[in-house]
This record gives sequence, structure tokens and C-alpha cells, in this order.
Amino acid sequence: MNYRPAKAYINLPALRHNLKVMQQAAAGSKILAVIKANGYGHGIIRVAHHLSGADAFGVASIDEAMLLRQKGFLHRILLLEGLFCKEEIALVTQNRFDLVIHADYQLDWLLDCHISGVTNIWVKVDTGMHRLGFAPNQVESVIKRLEASANEFNIHLMSHFASADEDNESGRKFSQQQLVEFDALANIDKYSKSFANSAGIINYPQSHFQWVRPGISLYGGVEFDNIDLRPVMQLESALIAIKQIAKGESVGYGNTWYAERESVIGVIAIGYGDGYPRHAKNGTPVLIKGHQVSLVGRVSMDMITVDLTDLINDGISIQIGDQAVLWGQGLNVDIVAQHSDTIGYELLCGVTQRVPMIEI
Ligand code: PLP
Repeated sequence: MNYRPAKAYINLPALRHNLKVMQQAAAGSKILAVIKANGYGHGIIRVAHHLSGADAFGVASIDEAMLLRQKGFLHRILLLEGLFCKEEIALVTQNRFDLVIHADYQLDWLLDCHISGVTNIWVKVDTGMHRLGFAPNQVESVIKRLEASANEFNIHLMSHFASADEDNESGRKFSQQQLVEFDALANIDKYSKSFANSAGIINYPQSHFQWVRPGISLYGGVEFDNIDLRPVMQLESALIAIKQIAKGESVGYGNTWYAERESVIGVIAIGYGDGYPRHAKNGTPVLIKGHQVSLVGRVSMDMITVDLTDLINDGISIQIGDQAVLWGQGLNVDIVAQHSDTIGYELLCGVTQRVPMIEI
């Protein structure tokens, strides 16, 4: 029974719409839809069904990839972090997964095994993010070793933006430099390539190459000027208490907010136990019946408190059971994240099991 009003509505037409938008934005490139981390928290299988128009899927582990195959998805599936152990190679070849290799130890495992059939290998190049990947000056020798192997590999090149979403001079400079490093790779034209994540697709058309790898944009967890992306997840709950407090009184644990006037406080059944960020600050927007109000006081495990005073003063009738939208239509998760010192990705991935997901 789900009598508690906290629910996450998953708007599947919005997901399909966003795929089309990103396909248009990267016209001419193939789409590898990134559906790792349980489809950015939306449910990997439901997301895969509604993104089945993508050319490939990107996941973080072989477990996610196997689940997709077991459910009958025949798409190319790329293991974005490659192999965690040598034993995975058998599953990779049996299931025809595409594989990133980002380090020598993975290359050694691959070259040590006898592999039947052709395997798609994505050589990851570290163009500046300094997380995964071979340094640009190692790439030629990595490719030589792959080509010299008795195993048959279809080789692709990829890299990843560190700051494609940083719309400022240093972010732009860094991204341009990453592209320069990539373009300077020897024989780059021989291989198919992938570079762009969502922000790269929108901000750096020169990074589209043959394959793009959108993630957050497909879920509508980010906004770009003039790009019609729609939020896929709407986290909702309802008012379960309304109370008057006097000027000077505080609200919630730790007394982090004091009323500067006589105030009406609404209590909403959602908290960090549901994945609402505990670090959300006073002033974080919440929609009550479509009207924006502010979070006041600390986020509790099961509840948050908002200031309803302005709504009441404006003559809007408010009662127990009224809808509260924590993020979704009219309130992008990214805005809530900005008020919580995090990113929308974390909030989407962090909705907990106790919140029922309802497909719409
Ligand atoms: N490519 C790689 C290698 C990633 O790790 C990710 C996400 O973290 C993506 C693409 C998708 O990025 P975004 O969600 O910013 O579009």
C-alpha cells in the first residue's frame, strides 16, 4: 500500500521527446544513450524500452549490461569503464558488448585471452580530465598492440569533457584544449570517435564526431537555452500539516530558520530518507499547487517545511493534502541541486526505494 503521498512520476513521453531533441541536436551522429546507474535513477529497463530508438546504450558495469541483454535488448551496449576483472571477458564476447579500455592492465587482460569474433574496443584517451584514459602519446602504441593481436578488434577512439557545462571563459578554454588534444592524435581519421556528453552536444558541435553520448539531457535534468528538454522525473508529495508561528520562532532541527514575521509553515511528507537533499538550504524552491514557495529549516528524514505565508497573504487557499512538487515540471532538478551544493544527477540517482515510481 502506498498511502504516503511521496511519489516519483516518470514521464515516458518526455523521455522519448528528449531523445528526439538530442538526435536533432547531433544530427548525423549516432546516439549512445547513457543509462548507467539504473537509468540515472529512473529504472534502467523502463528507460531502455523508451530509448530503444538510440543506436547504443552506455552502462557502468557488466551487471547492467547483462540485465539489458536478459531483457532482450539487442542494441550495442558499451561498458563505459571497461573491465573490472579478466573473468568478464567471456561475458563480453558471448554477449557482444562493446568495451572501453582505459589502462594497460585492461589491455594486458584482453591480449592474454583468446577471443572469438570481432570485439568493438573503445580506446579511451585522457585529454585533460585525468580520470580514466591513456595519455595522448600512449594511444598509438595501444592501437599497435591491439592491431598486432591474434584477436580481432574493431577500434574506436573516445574521450570525455571535464567542463562542457561550464559556460565561462575557463570552462570554454579547457574544453577547446581537450578537443585540440584529441584532434592531434595520430591517424585519427581512420577511426570512429566519440567525445560529447549532453553539454558537449549542445555547446561544442565540433565534438559530435560519429557517436555522441547524452545522459542527463535525456532525463531532462538540465536546461539549455532554446533546447526543448522536458523533465522526466517529477518528485511529488503533499502537505501533511499547516501551522502558524509567531515572529521570532524557529522551525526544525537545529533552529536554522527564524520567522521574521508571523508565518504559516507547511509540512511536506518528503525528506532525505526519500532522496530529497539534506543539504538543501533555506530558500530552496518548492512548488505548492504550482506556486513557488521556499524551504525553511532543516530537511528531516521524512519531512520538510516550507513558508506558506506569502501564498496565504495572496489569498491562495491552502489545505492538507495539497500537492507539493519537489522537482519536475516547472522546477528543474538542477535548480534544487544548485540550492543544495550538488548536481541534478545526484538527486535523480538518489531517490530511494521507498518512493514508488509511477509511469505516466
Ligand atoms: N560519457 C561518459 C563516459 C560518462 O561518464 C557520462 C556521464 O557521466 C556521459 C557520457 C553522459 O554525460 P551527461 O549525463 O553529462 O550527458
